[in-house]
Amino acid sequence: MARIEDLKHKIAQAEEELRRLKEDLAQAESGIQDDNANGGANDSSWKWPLPATDYERYSRQMVIGGVGTRGQLRLKSASVLIVGAGGLGCPAAAYIAGAGVGTLGIIDDDTVETSNLHRQIAHATSRVGMSKVESAITYLKDLNPTVTYRAHNTRLTPENAESIVSNYDLVLDCTDHPAIRYLVSDICVLLGKPLVSASALKTDGQLMVLNYPARAAGDESGGPCYRCIFPRPPPPESVVSCGEGGILGPIVGVMGILQALETIKLITGGAVDPSAAAPPPTSKPSMLLFSGAAALSFRSFSMRPRKKGCITCSADATLTLEGLRSGGFDYAQFCGVAVPLDILRPDERISAAECKDPSGTSAGTALLLDVREREHFDVSSIEGAVNIPIATFLRETTACKSDGQPHEQKAPAWFPPDVSDDSPIYVVCRVGNDSQLATRRLKEMGLDRNGTRYIGDIKGGMRAWKAEVDPTLPFT
Ligand SMILES: [Zn+2]
Repeated sequence: MARIEDLKHKIAQAEEELRRLKEDLAQAESGIQDDNANGGANDSSWKWPLPATDYERYSRQMVIGGVGTRGQLRLKSASVLIVGAGGLGCPAAAYIAGAGVGTLGIIDDDTVETSNLHRQIAHATSRVGMSKVESAITYLKDLNPTVTYRAHNTRLTPENAESIVSNYDLVLDCTDHPAIRYLVSDICVLLGKPLVSASALKTDGQLMVLNYPARAAGDESGGPCYRCIFPRPPPPESVVSCGEGGILGPIVGVMGILQALETIKLITGGAVDPSAAAPPPTSKPSMLLFSGAAALSFRSFSMRPRKKGCITCSADATLTLEGLRSGGFDYAQFCGVAVPLDILRPDERISAAECKDPSGTSAGTALLLDVREREHFDVSSIEGAVNIPIATFLRETTACKSDGQPHEQKAPAWFPPDVSDDSPIYVVCRVGNDSQLATRRLKEMGLDRNGTRYIGDIKGGMRAWKAEVDPTLPFT
């Protein structure tokens, strides 16, 4: 152990030294750039609009139609804010920094975890525990030290949104939190910034360019905002995080890269260049859906223009900067907060430790029902547990007959036939919400035999089982 600690310490020291050297190099390089940009202090014959190092670095993209010298100059004078340094933000930041944007800001209040690394490509095993913003900027400086990076090591809030976002020309929404999605969209409309928004879950992704053209509220030629497309947030219990629903690295990578592409196209096309004669012609606002399942597919759908009555971007808009600053709109309440369910009585719930040691309960040969998704169950489960995913469970068990009367004490088809009538039934899920729903349903079906059979759930689910009974569970 001492040797491991010693090596970690030495690596940290070497990394700190490397970081300092890279900063020195970047400073030296930017000095040369300034000389060149000024006509070349050392070479008065330099007559091109970009420094020599830029031609070297960006030559491959400058020869693409639509970019050219003008596009490169526009990139150089543009500033972009990335909200979220995760699975979308990392690849988006890499390509936008690589393309030579002038200023790149990143906002996030999270720290790097090992479970991030399969998809959040700007982070590294050696930077687990570091703030995501700092980790991403470490990676980006190595990639392109000529960009000015701004670290916002915080969460975007209604109070700080204006002061942060107003420093940038264009914003990328790379979060996975509904409340922040609405906040980012609102502040972009209020400050007149185009917004490139994406999301990804499991094997699917979605991409939209919003508030473009970025016109004042009430101007119908402006692009729709996030609220126009999704006036109501999804119910909080339906919001599945990457931790719960899972995500494949390349899926979120594709979506982040597409955000970078849209951003580069907008900037090189003059979308945020005040001297551009007219905004670049745009196709109608559209939503791109990507499915990475068996047969890869991209589908594009036209989006409706700004929605009449939208509280942010329509003529009837009620949201103002002033209102936002003073907390006039409660984003957390609007999106709802998924509070832990609490529908069972205390005596209908047992702790993981009690279930492990059935002597303290009425358990004989108990039936342990695990209602997590099959993929979670396959990774790790409690010995002897029977897996019926909650969706299947609820579909195949009906609480009442069509006449409203409870079922007779009849077990569903999946119910193991060798379980005796008085064997207790314990239900477990990931964190202890679905297990309560399943327990309640089993009782409604009459399987508790008028109270003679114990049915209850394991409080805190598999997460509690890992904490109290079996720490070797790989993850929950
Ligand atoms: Zn709107």
